[in-house]
This record gives sequence, structure tokens and C-alpha cells, in this order.
Amino acid sequence: MADDVLKKVLVKAGDKAGLAKRSPTEDFGWDKESAKAETAKLIGKLSDLQMRLAAEASRGLLVVLQAMDASGKDGTVRSLSAGLNPAGVTVTSFKVPAGRETQMDYLWRVHNSCPGKGEIGIFNRSHYEDVLVVRVKNFVPRSRWSKRYEHIRNFEKLLADEGTRIVKIHLQISKEEQGLRLQDRIDDPLERWKFRLGDLDDRKLWPQFQRAYEDAITETSTKAAPWYVVPADRKWVRNLVVARLLVATLEEMNPQLPPSEEGIEGLKVV
Ligand code: ADP
Repeated sequence: MADDVLKKVLVKAGDKAGLAKRSPTEDFGWDKESAKAETAKLIGKLSDLQMRLAAEASRGLLVVLQAMDASGKDGTVRSLSAGLNPAGVTVTSFKVPAGRETQMDYLWRVHNSCPGKGEIGIFNRSHYEDVLVVRVKNFVPRSRWSKRYEHIRNFEKLLADEGTRIVKIHLQISKEEQGLRLQDRIDDPLERWKFRLGDLDDRKLWPQFQRAYEDAITETSTKAAPWYVVPADRKWVRNLVVARLLVATLEEMNPQLPPSEEGIEGLKVV
């Protein structure tokens, strides 16, 4: 991808994520008003690209959004949705496993939610929870979660080999910004439903989560399924980087309209 900002936020296969050296407040020297205007233009482009992807019907696009609480996963989905036809996009929010999910391997529910040919799938949280919260809170022993990076690399390679383009996005916010957003949720009656007391337990484990993110991103950023670390303290920066990333990805995929049936061109309907 030619875009310098996208090159900066990409974690190249084999490189360390280097989260501590990246700044969640980065704004790439952009100005807010023009950034918002550029985002709107790019979101407009998404609908045309999505239509081509659906018409081609041979490949899918999977967008993984993985981040700490209040980092803007829902806001990112909302920003993108303005340019997407709901008929061709599925947003899946992964919660604490329940029912049958608890009886199956951790990739079972994930595979089942992947986009089909011509479709876009957005994951709000993902299989990465199984090497993040599960690791930090010791839900399974190290001997189990440590093997999962390899499972995940192989699983994503399978998806890519079979026609799914994968883009993985870590929305990086600072602990300070998370604090402000959580406080807003508590203080605003209209936002309070988003807040769970458990959010504060996870916040106390901030350093452990950062280490788990660092390892997960480092271990699983591959050519087939690269990670992008998007600065997310400023929502308008986050939205523009994500919009640029998705438009660039779809343009690179360059989905083609199928040829029309012989004899249709020039036909007059009577
Ligand atoms: P969100 O915070 O995504 O808006 P919730 O408040 O319902 O939605 O949180 C979902 C919770 O489910 C998160 O705390 C997340 O860590 C947890 N979760 C998701 N997947 C798993 C998993 N595989 N194992 C354990 N917990 C998980």
C-alpha cells in the first residue's frame, strides 16, 4: 500500500508490535475538519467497492477490531456503516462464551461467523480474546493459551488461502483516555448502560493486558493477516485511518464485475 500512514500503523510480519513506542494520541499532522471531510469521502467510496465485491462473489473481507474497553470499537463500526449496505455486511460481537460455545474449541464460533464470498464481516472482539483476557485472567493454563498463536496463524492462513482477505485492527488508546471515557459512561445516564463494574477490574490489569496485546500482535501479524495499530485517542484520527485502510484494501483486492450474459448489451425491453 502506497499510503505512508498505513505503512506506519502496519506491524510487518516478523516485527514486534512495539506498542509502548507507539502513541495513541498521534494525529499525523492532520487537521480535524479536513480529516473529517476526507473520511466522509472515503466512506462514500466504500459502497461502490462493496457492491463490486458482492457482484464478483468470489472473495470475502474480514475486519477484526480488537481493543481495550471504551477504545471505540462500536464507534468505528458506526463510522464505517454509513458507507456499507447492511445486506452484505455482518457485524459479530464476541462475548463471554456461553452454551455450546463452551463445549467446543475456541475457534468454532469464530469460523462460523466468518464472511462468505462477496461479503464483509466485521468482528467486534474476536478469537484474540482467547489469548488476551483468557491469558490475563488465567482462564486456561499457559500450556494451553501459548499454543494458540500457532493455531490462529494457521486458521487465518486457511481463510486467506480460501479467498478471505483479512485486516486486523488494534485500536490503541491511552489509559488516561480510557479513564475519561469510562467516567463519562458512569456520569451520563444515557451512556451508563455501556458500563460494567468488571470494566474497572480489567483496567486494574492494564499492564498485563498491554503485554498480552504486545505478544498477540507480534506473534500473529503475518502477510496473510496483518495487524494495524491505529491511534485511537482522537476519534477523528481513528476513523480516518480505518477508512483509508479499508478503502486501500478493497482497492488492492480490485473486485471485478462479472461479464454479462451474451446478447444482453444493447437489448431493448419491450
Ligand atoms: P463490549 O465490551 O465488547 O462492548 P461486553 O461489555 O458485553 O461488550 O463485553 C464482552 C466481554 O466478553 C468482554 O469483557 C470480553 O473480554 C469477554 N469475552 C469475549 N470473548 C471471550 C472469551 N473467549 N473468553 C472470555 N471472555 C471473553
